[in-house]
Amino acid sequence: MYAPPGVKTNHNEFPIPESQRAWTLGDPGELSLGEKPVPVPKKAEVLVRIDAVAICATDLEIIYHGPPASIQGGLPFNKGFTPGHEYMGTVVALGPGVDEYGIGERVAVEIHAGCGQCKRCREGMYTSCHNYGLNYGDVDKGHRANGFTTDGGFCEYQVNNINTLVPIQDDMSDAEGTLVVTAGTAMYALTELGGLVAGESVCVTGPGPIGLMAVAVAKALGAQPVILTGTRDNRLEIGKELGADAVVNIRKTPNVVEEVKKLNGGKGVDYVVECSAATSAVNDAVRMVNRGGKVCLAAFAHEEVPVDVAHIVRNNIYLYGIRGEGKSATHRAEAYMRQKRFEATRIHTHTFALDDLPTAIRYAKDRVEDAIKVVVKAKMDAAQKVAAE
Ligand SMILES: [Zn+2]
Ligand SMILES: [Zn+2]
Repeated sequence: MYAPPGVKTNHNEFPIPESQRAWTLGDPGELSLGEKPVPVPKKAEVLVRIDAVAICATDLEIIYHGPPASIQGGLPFNKGFTPGHEYMGTVVALGPGVDEYGIGERVAVEIHAGCGQCKRCREGMYTSCHNYGLNYGDVDKGHRANGFTTDGGFCEYQVNNINTLVPIQDDMSDAEGTLVVTAGTAMYALTELGGLVAGESVCVTGPGPIGLMAVAVAKALGAQPVILTGTRDNRLEIGKELGADAVVNIRKTPNVVEEVKKLNGGKGVDYVVECSAATSAVNDAVRMVNRGGKVCLAAFAHEEVPVDVAHIVRNNIYLYGIRGEGKSATHRAEAYMRQKRFEATRIHTHTFALDDLPTAIRYAKDRVEDAIKVVVKAKMDAAQKVAAE
């Protein structure tokens, strides 16, 4: 039985096995299901039983190419690494001294637990921790980034620092719980842009999960108008349901910059949240904002992109890059979701069993049946696929 010294459990209600099913990454694109020990929470950590985990585009990057994962200071392949980072679950064991959470509490989990001691962590920018990935060999800086620098969520149990937990209410489904971090990333983008969004005009480029959540969060914060650009009509339609006042299909519009300005009364918007990673997106974004406007880059492109620096300087345009979901943005996103300010589950399209992870990944990667967010659940029979809840 799982009974590590100093760790509080409640085996009657939440029995914990000593080993668990876990997917590990071999060569690029190669995942295999095996057994791993259930990890032991240390000081300021809890053990979370993973009830649902969503697949993110970054998981696909890691599984097929490696970065931004960094395992033992290098690529994540053939190191027994378990990817997966957008999960939620139930607290089932408490590390020594933990009284902030109780066994049985449902939580969404932020990805990044910073070291807590570097300059950026002290500023709340723990997703940019200066000790990122320094937690192997003789070095233990206390930094964790689930599914990036330490084992993630494509398994049944994982340890998490208490500062990464976001309590969720009983009426929030497991699948919706996995979207708290997605909405949190959108919230962080708008936080970094200044946060005072009510009455300001916002354009979101790229209707992927983060782009669609950026539309929802911007609208919840009172932005007007909120404009969404993209290439797929079905996703643009979901954007409208989540609060976009206008959408632009860039395939059908010769000049997207002019079209966005037209939709904003002829002038540039105050903010752009760039979520498309398209090569032309940065230049489009800096031309979509008005003078003194702000652009947040929330998607990473594969190649270097050309940027019109003179235009940026002449017009005093601010350009921000964000990583993940810092400054407790997930807590603010969860509050909006709790208050039913937007229906995050509109982006959840498919659910699979943990044993069917390769199929789930194929759905996400190839956008089978217009998949957007694909969720995997440990407590579900294999070969059972459920349309969105
Ligand atoms: Zn993600
Ligand atoms: Zn740090």
